[in-house]
Amino acid sequence: MVSARKATQQSTKQHNRDLVFNTILANELISRAEIARSTQLTRTTVSEVVAGLIGEGLVEEAGFSSSVGGKPSIQLSLVADSRYRIGLNLARDRFTGAVVNLRGDLKDTVEIPVQWNDRGQALQLVFQIVDQLLKKGWKPIVGIGVGAPGLINTREGQVVRAVNLDWQDFPLAHLLQERYQLPVAVMNDSQATAVGEFVYGHHQAGSNLIVITVNNGIGAGLLINGQLFQGDNGYAGEIGHVSIPGNEQVCRCGKRGCLETIASTQAIVQRVQAAAGSTETLSLEQVLRRFNDGDATIRQFVEEAGHALGATIGSLSGALNINTVVLTGDMIHFGQVWLDATRQAFQQSVLSQFGQETQIKPGTLDFRACILGASAHLFLENYSLLYLQPEK
Ligand SMILES: [Zn+2]
Repeated sequence: MVSARKATQQSTKQHNRDLVFNTILANELISRAEIARSTQLTRTTVSEVVAGLIGEGLVEEAGFSSSVGGKPSIQLSLVADSRYRIGLNLARDRFTGAVVNLRGDLKDTVEIPVQWNDRGQALQLVFQIVDQLLKKGWKPIVGIGVGAPGLINTREGQVVRAVNLDWQDFPLAHLLQERYQLPVAVMNDSQATAVGEFVYGHHQAGSNLIVITVNNGIGAGLLINGQLFQGDNGYAGEIGHVSIPGNEQVCRCGKRGCLETIASTQAIVQRVQAAAGSTETLSLEQVLRRFNDGDATIRQFVEEAGHALGATIGSLSGALNINTVVLTGDMIHFGQVWLDATRQAFQQSVLSQFGQETQIKPGTLDFRACILGASAHLFLENYSLLYLQPEK
């Protein structure tokens, strides 16, 4: 049995280690003295922890600083390719998986197109992607992170409801753990995307951010003081099913008038199909091609989609007073027409002072944000799984 005192020592040790590692992760290069200053740990503690991290192969000495005057100090750097994780994005009309290193570089990607009628096989497709990625030989893989659409119980790794995938109370994390014997994190794709944009999109530590993801579904991820806000049940940001006045469309959730029935990529595709009166199934790529060729009907649908979204963003960011809103997901491909419509409706729905101070901008990471966020979530709050040697 571990004594209470020993347990406390152990947890202080872990805390210091995570703090130092986090500081190295956040910097391209950093010296031991700079780490001590920024973490408020003693130089001795920092040196001890760094020795451990070097021993684990996670950190290396990478030359000297060229400081003016004073003694040049040894610079430390993360060994980006010392650990890998697998991230998956299941929220689009294709499933995408990738092997990711510690710096967030995608080393290998596997993509499988998913048709609406494939949804019974969703789990098999997930296995297929992970199997293929594992065969690429990147080692060591420390865990798997999945961003899935719908309501997700992140703590249990359970998909409570994902209409798109035909999953209900589905123990996805458990099934993946069992098959691959690796730690698994499953989270809502919009929340994962928000974490990815925040961590890898150069946002200031501790700042606030709203990230809206528009694919077949629509969701928001909220970062408050740099932390993902999940709400009482983990469903924070489920804006896809708020109702839009005047909209009577029946949603796949069973309600009428949901934002998703007018503002998602799926809504655009379905409206284009209905307008054409054909039974032919169109892909998003086909619709985009017609849109880029100047199809006026599609342009109108895209503008209506932007208007509905902009008004919803107005209610959300207005209530929270968050000044930065990032838009991402496949809908981004409709470009300036969509962005302008969204911004315009947003401005009309909020106080002018607030409107002026709010920036609505496209994300920088596209589908990668979800992959990066879901797989980073595995260890962001606890770096233990990066350590391969048994802890002393
Ligand atoms: Zn709905």
